[in-house]
Amino acid sequence: MTQRKIHVVGNWKMNMNVLEIKEFVKNIQANHTREIWIAPQAVHIPILIDLQGDKFISGGQDCSDHDSGAYTGEISPQSLVDIGAKFVLIGHSERRQYQKENNELLNRKVKSAIKSGLKVIFCVGESLELREEGSTEATIKHQLVEGLKNITTKEAENILIAYEPVWAIGTGKVATPVQAQEVHHYIRNEILEHLNFKTQDTIILYGGSVKPDNFSELLNCEDIDGALVGGASLNADSFNKLIHT
Ligand code: PEP
Repeated sequence: MTQRKIHVVGNWKMNMNVLEIKEFVKNIQANHTREIWIAPQAVHIPILIDLQGDKFISGGQDCSDHDSGAYTGEISPQSLVDIGAKFVLIGHSERRQYQKENNELLNRKVKSAIKSGLKVIFCVGESLELREEGSTEATIKHQLVEGLKNITTKEAENILIAYEPVWAIGTGKVATPVQAQEVHHYIRNEILEHLNFKTQDTIILYGGSVKPDNFSELLNCEDIDGALVGGASLNADSFNKLIHT
């Protein structure tokens, strides 16, 4: 088993302009004991890469399931690679919800991104309604088994999983360490039993209202290897605290 390195991944969503990006990067203090990744809007990736030096790496928030062609407005995984992106988020709950992305499409995106040479952060998570009716594990299982269908062990080496309970994203309601650990443990078993992952090496991130004051207790959980962070990644002060937690 390799030691799983702690990852702190910022998802800027549709935020940050060029001036704000410059200010942000200037104020970030690198921490090379961690994997620090940031996903800005795709058009900002080259600017961020120019500024970031070795403080972190940059990636995309989504990509097409196609390599190229007549798909107006889409971003091919290869074009992300061409501009220097190293990873891409796939299946974020906002895309599942607003763009109606289903597991079948997400499965094609995952394969296509890996084929282009990107690492993939595959996001899963249940809504409040599903949690309250006791369907958390069934939901996660379905998302994993369908979204990561026919992924080979070799491909799986390029996949990180983010558990992001939908009810905790941008709401200020963080899952308790016990709730998060339970699902992370479940995910680690599922990807061993039903998928071709080397489960002990797979990075599983928690996402959902992670802030400097709740991160260390989440990191103390055995199966939590870091965080996917929205709101708290937009501010250099809070992001510095997270990457140095
Ligand atoms: C996210 O959108 O991936 C996220 C976790 O957002 P926040 O940290 O703001 O809840």
